Amino acid sequence: MAIVNCPSCSKPISDKARECPHCGMNFENQSAEDIQRKANYELYKKRLKIQNQSMLAILLFVIGAYFTFMGDFGTSVTDRILQNGALLLTAIGFVWYGVNRVRLVLAKRKK
Ligand SMILES: [Zn+2]
Repeated sequence: MAIVNCPSCSKPISDKARECPHCGMNFENQSAEDIQRKANYELYKKRLKIQNQSMLAILLFVIGAYFTFMGDFGTSVTDRILQNGALLLTAIGFVWYGVNRVRLVLAKRKK
């Protein structure tokens, strides 16, 4: 008996299991090909989601960087808060993008 990942929910299950105890997906009526196809589709959806988040992260970074470097900030408290906010946005975008890159690599390796 080996432990494999459920093609539907990716949780570890026995390769002898007839259905997934986590998500209830039934493997009995499905050929190995069906299951593989579904797994590929799930992977595709996952990667698409990560890629969309990467785009969003880049957008945050660009907007944040724009205001950080181009913003005409004065010395008032409000301006300082805005400036720090822009800087924070840049940092979040940068880190988030990095995290998504790692997730994408991990998702690719899983297959
Ligand atoms: Zn499952």
